[in-house]
Amino acid sequence: MKPHVVVVGGGFGGLAAARELAGDGASVTLVDRRNFHLFQPLLYQVATAALEPADIAYPLRGVVHRQPGITVRLAEVVGVDLTSRCVRLGDGGRLAYDHLVVATGSVSADYGVPGVAEHAFPLKNLDDALALRNHLLETFERSDVDRSLVDAGSLSVVVVGGGPTGVEMAGALAELFDKVLAKDFPTLPVDRARVVLVEMGAEVLPPFVKPLRAYALRQLRARRVEVRTGHTVREVTAGSVVLDDGEVLAARTLVWAAGVRASPIPAEPALPTGRAGGSPSRRTCRCPGTRRCGRSATSRRPWTRRAGRSFRWRRRRSREAGTSPSRSCVGTRASRPGRSPTSTRGSWPRSAGGRRSRSCRWGCGCAGRSGGSRGWGSTSSRCSGSATAWRCS
Ligand SMILES: Cc1cc2nc3c(=O)[nH]c(=O)nc-3n(C[C@H](O)[C@H](O)[C@H](O)COP(=O)(O)OP(=O)(O)OC[C@H]3O[C@@H](n4cnc5c(N)ncnc54)[C@H](O)[C@@H]3O)c2cc1C
Repeated sequence: MKPHVVVVGGGFGGLAAARELAGDGASVTLVDRRNFHLFQPLLYQVATAALEPADIAYPLRGVVHRQPGITVRLAEVVGVDLTSRCVRLGDGGRLAYDHLVVATGSVSADYGVPGVAEHAFPLKNLDDALALRNHLLETFERSDVDRSLVDAGSLSVVVVGGGPTGVEMAGALAELFDKVLAKDFPTLPVDRARVVLVEMGAEVLPPFVKPLRAYALRQLRARRVEVRTGHTVREVTAGSVVLDDGEVLAARTLVWAAGVRASPIPAEPALPTGRAGGSPSRRTCRCPGTRRCGRSATSRRPWTRRAGRSFRWRRRRSREAGTSPSRSCVGTRASRPGRSPTSTRGSWPRSAGGRRSRSCRWGCGCAGRSGGSRGWGSTSSRCSGSATAWRCS
């Protein structure tokens, strides 16, 4: 009998795991609370109105329909019973599994900084991107009517986190202000709109090689982004961001790109957690039949190839032994999805300033297909329709 694998999460990690495991003969149920795969790396383009939500959302069923062995289930996983090997769903359903893959991604971490939860804009999903886009537009419209808001920093944006998301976001915002909004609001002093990028480390883009870090910094400065390295945020209010040295930045918009933690998933007994709430190493994670992958894991080992190998190995072994490969734990391993076809870390198809390459180098086709920037004008009516186009309501 084929082992039944439940994969929770249809992101990069979950999709890669589901495909490989189904290819290796497992029967896979892919569970996600939304019925589309979101291409997160281009969220900042939606937030700055360069792309529409539908450009970066693909229906999960459309992604996997050609591959036999994968069933998609739209549901929120609200719990896992590790003892009876069963997943509890928000709609009251239950799914039994032989093996469970947890690939629920990550959520923003505010590190307990006062005011972040209330006032900051995270950038993790389409709703976040649209909320930021609408907030920016409303702020500019309001400032156009009431100029006193400009003095209070209404046009300025603080981006916290000098990693790829923060750098792209800051560059794209600066371009949006200079190239689009300055024309759309001719009487508004858009040149007073500051974009400040705050990074705790000594340089932006810490994981990248030095020449790239230097290049990114040059590009940001060329776009008038104020880069504050070596600083953390102490406190956030509705109209200001206070840095650790006491400096107060007047800004109505704070984009929080400073950190993530594993998306929580309640389990009984509780799944052990490690760094940033992800699954810890094999030594400490001993949950039979359970694995984590993608951003919900913490180890850097490529899991999908390992999973494929271990299933093949178990199939061969059980064929030799004349038993079913299901129900036996092949060892628990927490790791990242490895280089799936759409895994792109280290290969950014656009400049630090956020310009998107016209041809899609991501392997998914979305960036290349979407025909370039649509400009800010397309957001003048609130965009929400296409954001929900893929959703079942
Ligand atoms: C703005 C931004 C830009 C980025 N840019 C890049 C980049 O350029 N290059 C790069 O390599 N990486 C980039 N990343 C990181 C990359 O997008 C993530 O590492 C990757 O998406 C993680 O994939 P994942 O499968 O672990 O999780 P996700 O893609 O987050 O998928 C998790 C899935 O699990 C589902 N889910 C969660 N909880 C539940 C539940 N309880 N029940 C059911 N379903 C659930 C969610 O709906 C989601 O579909 C970026 C991330 C962001 C936010």
